[in-house]
Amino acid sequence: MRKAANHKENELPSFDRYYIELAEAVSRRANCLGKKVGAIVVVGNRIVSTGYNGVPEGMTNCMDGGCKVCYEKKKAREKNKQDNAKKNGSGKSYDDCICVHAEQNVMMTAARFGISIESGVLYTTFQPCFGCAKQMLQAKIQKIVFQKDFIPPSELWDEYQEIQDKFPGGVWKFENGGSIEMLSKKRGAIEHVSGQTLVVVKGNGAAVR
Ligand SMILES: [Zn+2]
Ligand SMILES: [Zn+2]
Repeated sequence: MRKAANHKENELPSFDRYYIELAEAVSRRANCLGKKVGAIVVVGNRIVSTGYNGVPEGMTNCMDGGCKVCYEKKKAREKNKQDNAKKNGSGKSYDDCICVHAEQNVMMTAARFGISIESGVLYTTFQPCFGCAKQMLQAKIQKIVFQKDFIPPSELWDEYQEIQDKFPGGVWKFENGGSIEMLSKKRGAIEHVSGQTLVVVKGNGAAVR
């Protein structure tokens, strides 16, 4: 038997890493002046749809000035640098422009081509916004895995949490180290996924390790 020269090199990535990295690759095609987001839906361990954010097909691209809101936000960010952009909640509720979100696109592409996403797992590079989260719930996505945090506006937090709690497979945050933590329902429980001990999150998102 040949000895593995480098164990790490020969180690396969977990499926969560595999899919989240593919969602990252998809996000590179995003055409939006705001966050670049990529999403994929996996059914039966197969990718059935991909999506990134940008204006609806046939419209002037966001990066070419096609989305007025994104353009104004970008200008404001440049003017105020980060301080005011954060204070004014730029990106706080990113559902107010003509750009279609990656998660909406991944679901609508499936609809357009007649592919069922029921019981699918949706991998996305950003935690879904309030609107996308409720749409995923209605589309019967059973589990969400995301990479970067999105904190919804405080007035929507309780409802957002309620929606997250409804996903039967939970809502999980993928850490780049490979660990994965659940932000929903099974708060309080410790589980194992891909050999990793899960970290459980309580209340308003503070991690409990
Ligand atoms: Zn945009
Ligand atoms: Zn969204």
